[in-house]
Amino acid sequence: MAVTDMSNSKLSRTIPVADLRRSAVLPLMTEPLPSPSGQLSDRRQRPLRDLRISVTDRCNFRCSYCMPREVFDKDYAFLPQSALLSFEEITRLARLFIAHGVEKIRLTGGEPLLRKNIEVLIEMLAQLRTPTGRALDITLTTNGALLAKKAQALKDAGLRRVTVSLDGLDDAVFRRMNDVDFPVADVLHGIEVAERVGLAPLKVNMVVKRGTNDQEIVPMARHFRGSGAVLRFIEYMDVGATNGWRMDEVLPSAQVVERIAEYFALEPMAASAPGETAQRWRYVDGSGEIGVISSVTQAFCGDCNRARLSTEGKLFLCLFASQGHDLRALLRGPYSDEQISAAIAHIWQGRVDRYSELRSTQAPSSANGPRRVEMSYIGG
Ligand code: SAM
Repeated sequence: MAVTDMSNSKLSRTIPVADLRRSAVLPLMTEPLPSPSGQLSDRRQRPLRDLRISVTDRCNFRCSYCMPREVFDKDYAFLPQSALLSFEEITRLARLFIAHGVEKIRLTGGEPLLRKNIEVLIEMLAQLRTPTGRALDITLTTNGALLAKKAQALKDAGLRRVTVSLDGLDDAVFRRMNDVDFPVADVLHGIEVAERVGLAPLKVNMVVKRGTNDQEIVPMARHFRGSGAVLRFIEYMDVGATNGWRMDEVLPSAQVVERIAEYFALEPMAASAPGETAQRWRYVDGSGEIGVISSVTQAFCGDCNRARLSTEGKLFLCLFASQGHDLRALLRGPYSDEQISAAIAHIWQGRVDRYSELRSTQAPSSANGPRRVEMSYIGG
């Protein structure tokens, strides 16, 4: 339950309560309503460029580091259909975000390919244009289970690229990690079909858990080297409150690079865009590149230009934020585009956080620290 004071449309807020999915503030709008300039900056001078949209909180995998089956079981209360933003609502918000400078949209979840008719949403988003008339960079992160079936429709709808999560090549290790007995071969087939239809360059994300799948680092590097796909290793993160995260299960990215470099010479590359999450390395022999995402050992918020829209329309300014801003309440209330746009501007301009850098000083989800929302809800 949330208590909302709507007595003044310029100043209204919600009191947060225990279920973090319902913990949100109703955004403020200040008058006069400013027109979007495409150049929104937060209080640390970070622009808004990248919007990640979670289109479902459901997933067909039960990876223990993300949606452990003990928590996300048959009794878990996923969001009802009526709580989800509709495609029209998502597109309306996307248009407003684009006017504020967003150039890239990533659809995620949960598993985004479980959202019925996702290609219709992609088609709607693909028609939007930036203030300078450019098409958006639309991409999607998936576990690959349904990719072979959907790749062509996604491409036809206007999806440009895709990132596929794959935590190893050893079938037994992978089946254990996804915890639904899903075979590696089917994900590899999905990757192959996606590349064939032109969803490229494709990225492959591997979450590394020391003692669980770190022996898969070199085989994965060997497999994707020279394939055109960019393999990225993600440090196992202390996101959410259900995965029982422990620091001793994190393998620092520096060691990932060292292990690969024992077999294939690597050299560092410059970032391709400001705010890029991965540090890039290329194979000296020209057979491609890898990326490492060091969200635990080298957390850096200095140029973070990402915002996240949860499945039910809450705007989060960080994966580690414990509270979102309830844009759905505005969408479903008597508010104009100008008012919602002003609320988005107000939220971003007030952004000062650097949770990722600060969290290294706090025990995850400790009694003292703020509780964290789950990745499957906020969108990875
Ligand atoms: N279902 C889609 C997928 O599997 O790619 C999209 C959502 S998933 C939450 C997005 C990404 O977050 C995946 O690459 C997943 O491996 C990663 N992820 C989830 N929990 C994580 C954690 N605790 N640490 C690091 N990465 C994590």
